[in-house]
Amino acid sequence: MNNSIITFPSPANEPVKSYLAGSPERVALEKELERQSNIVVDIPIIIGGKEIRTGNTGKVTCPHDHKHVLATYHKVGKEEIEMAIEAAMEAQKEWRKTPWTTRAAIALKMAELLATKYRPIINAACMLGQSKNIYQAEIDSACETIDFFRYNVHYASKIYQMQPKNGNGQINHTEFRPLEGFILAVTPFNFTSIASNLCMTPVLMGNVALWKPSTTSLLSNYYLMQLYKEAGLPDGVINFLPGSGALIGEVATQSKYFAGIHFTGSTSTFNSLWRQAGENLGKYIGYPRLVGETGGKDFIFVHPSADPKAVATAAFCGAFEFQGQKCSAASRMYIPKSLWSEVLEDMKRMASEVKMGDVKDPSNFINAVIDEASFDKCKSYIDYAEAAEDAKVVIGGTCDKSVGYFVSPTVIETSNPHFKSMEEEIFGPIITVYPYDDDKVEETVKLCDETSPYGLTGAVFGRDRMAVEKISEDLCYAAGNFYINDKPTGAVVGMQPFGGARASGTDDKAGGEFNLIRWVIPRVIKETLVSPTDYRYSYLK
Ligand code: NAD
Repeated sequence: MNNSIITFPSPANEPVKSYLAGSPERVALEKELERQSNIVVDIPIIIGGKEIRTGNTGKVTCPHDHKHVLATYHKVGKEEIEMAIEAAMEAQKEWRKTPWTTRAAIALKMAELLATKYRPIINAACMLGQSKNIYQAEIDSACETIDFFRYNVHYASKIYQMQPKNGNGQINHTEFRPLEGFILAVTPFNFTSIASNLCMTPVLMGNVALWKPSTTSLLSNYYLMQLYKEAGLPDGVINFLPGSGALIGEVATQSKYFAGIHFTGSTSTFNSLWRQAGENLGKYIGYPRLVGETGGKDFIFVHPSADPKAVATAAFCGAFEFQGQKCSAASRMYIPKSLWSEVLEDMKRMASEVKMGDVKDPSNFINAVIDEASFDKCKSYIDYAEAAEDAKVVIGGTCDKSVGYFVSPTVIETSNPHFKSMEEEIFGPIITVYPYDDDKVEETVKLCDETSPYGLTGAVFGRDRMAVEKISEDLCYAAGNFYINDKPTGAVVGMQPFGGARASGTDDKAGGEFNLIRWVIPRVIKETLVSPTDYRYSYLK
């Protein structure tokens, strides 16, 4: 009988490998890129551990080479979604009773497998399928995914240790029950780590899941399913459902067993899932937990005391790494007129130095945007700016989808702080800059706060620490992750738990115990050691 109290101290973050030419990791990755480039994977639906092929298929292609088919996948219909609910509920019987340390051991094994055998596999799939360069793939699909596995085990151990005190003659404790039903994990294309985390966080806490992966990240997500199985995750605990999100959302939210959504994606999709849950509320066993991280219109606010070189670097990397498709990517900047020309020149220099192209050429800093819809959306904002009287494209603006979906790093300058691209999320390599009069800091901070409905990330630059403090306070609700003298991207698990409020989500902070606590319904148990046998209190006697 296992009666040990196992502790899981705070882990270290997975080191980012260098991938220098000739290094073992580079050799392994190149071999795997070659292998995956020369096969077409047949991605099944996975329900209760069984692979299902409906024959209703779609294609997964390389964004940077859209004629290159990486995989075909089978789409679920209503029947498969219902089967998945049944399989999840069957698996739940055992899984919720599994000692949590066993669940933790499985999650930690996932981390070890991904740090070793699966590292090149999932990195290569992420590079080819989501068009990330080596570094962007490594920090996402390897390191951040590993960190989520390891840190969440530590956070779970902290939650389970949160116990009430005992009274005289009584023992009290809290049992952290998983939810009574399944969790619908609906995941975005842009981070493999988020896709993994949205499934695995509830599962670590004893829940079962239906996983709706994004069609454009199916390849890396399918390899994650193989990793989960190899790590010992029982069949049916996570059920993998490629296909239409609208259909899966509709069928899942009509089930009596729908217990929660763990979502990352656009605000409009989360809103529609929330509405569906609301409409079906009377059908459920309990109130579902709705956890969503959604859109953003992330900003950089520059104070006149800022270092222009630091601002230019942050704006360039914050806006353009992974083609601006990080939810945290800088997409609007407020800068004093006195600093703008120097910052612009520096950004122009960087734009002229970076190369754009296929992920297999490691000298390419910029790769393709995810798909044609995204390409067209980016182009429409650039066309709009080019035609506008109150804006101009000052860097980039070229778009070419003949081979892959390439949009060059683009800077729009505007004299209108409410210009369309200052307000709306584009999710591409485009940043809009509003140069303001140096003596209008306060008014411009207010603009920054009130311009967009979102509240995800933001950064302030300035060497006047008191001024920075005031701006930080005035922008208190403008961002859930706020950076001082740093770009607004690059949150690391265990260091900057991530998420925003307003229209950016429920701010349950992925990579922290706040998120894990959403996936349990505590039961408090009081045991009286000697039960009273007389109803009278002493003063009545
Ligand atoms: P998306 O909303 O298009 O898709 C997200 C997921 O929802 C996908 O799996 C998709 O298939 C599914 N889906 C689409 N329509 C659906 C529907 N009607 N019902 C149910 N599911 C549906 O988002 P995306 O393009 O994959 O990702 C980009 C968005 O994600 C951006 O808005 C970005 O800001 C956001 N994002 C936010 C965070 C964060 O932490 N706040 C992190 C990453 C991405």
